[in-house]
Amino acid sequence: LPDPDVAALTAEDVDDLVPRPGAESDKYRRGVVGVAAGSDRYTGAAVLAVGGALRAGAGMVRYVGTAPPVRQVRARWPEAVITELERPSIEGVGRVQAWVVGPGLGTDDWAHELLARVLATDVPVLVDADALTIVTRERGLLRRTAPVLITPHAGELSRLLGVPADRVAAARLEHARRAAAELGVTVLLKGSTTVIAEQDRPVRVNTTGTPWLATGGTGDVLSGVGGTLLAGGLGAYDAGACAAFLHGLAGRMAADGAPLAAADVAAAIPLAMRALRGES
Ligand code: AMP
Ligand code: MG
Repeated sequence: LPDPDVAALTAEDVDDLVPRPGAESDKYRRGVVGVAAGSDRYTGAAVLAVGGALRAGAGMVRYVGTAPPVRQVRARWPEAVITELERPSIEGVGRVQAWVVGPGLGTDDWAHELLARVLATDVPVLVDADALTIVTRERGLLRRTAPVLITPHAGELSRLLGVPADRVAAARLEHARRAAAELGVTVLLKGSTTVIAEQDRPVRVNTTGTPWLATGGTGDVLSGVGGTLLAGGLGAYDAGACAAFLHGLAGRMAADGAPLAAADVAAAIPLAMRALRGES
């Protein structure tokens, strides 16, 4: 018997949920995504998160970071509107409808302060990677009114909950649910299958991926996709589920039985969106 507390998401569901521009759309109303990612050491994470956001159909991406990742993002994505930060502040960056924070950000005081500023805004925030490490040290950062979507893999969730990794791996649905309840956020737990948990909702399970996605940087692309869907007006539960579905399908299309690099997954997001029609 199907478990009433678990739901699968179909291509048709995703097709219905994903925001598409209408005749009267403009870039601001389609959704402006802020991306706070990358650091002097990890510049690629910024490039991949911005790429995921742009390829998922953001009206605009505003990127903030230090000089080294800024140089890379500027070279790879001329579409992005960039603010080079001298201090960890997002003042004067301009209005965004959602933030993505964390990939390659580092975990030092600078990153901590920037994360705190992002979480102090009144828009939805997707929290990933290094930002999850910071949140593990200071859970109180997640206490806010606007939605939070966290996107841990099993190791990140294990640290966040203080539960051994093997126990999380053995009961993924249960621990995603528990994190959603304990932290009061929406949880997208990544892995060979991805589960999305939110309080009082059935856990959604996504299986569109491919093991070829197990390569560095694919999670950064996912965070950008999720940020765009949040900025486009989806709630955290729908944004998480649609991002996982599209990212997995894009991975499968990019790989087609052979290796992929994370940038290929971003490039295939539009193909995955187009394929929704064929799959539903
Ligand atoms: P991260 O752990 O942040 O690097 O993200 C890795 C991405 O690849 C996530 O979207 C995972 O769901 C996906 N992924 C990793 N391993 C697998 C696998 N064996 N099968 C399908 N997807 C995977
Ligand atoms: Mg990651």
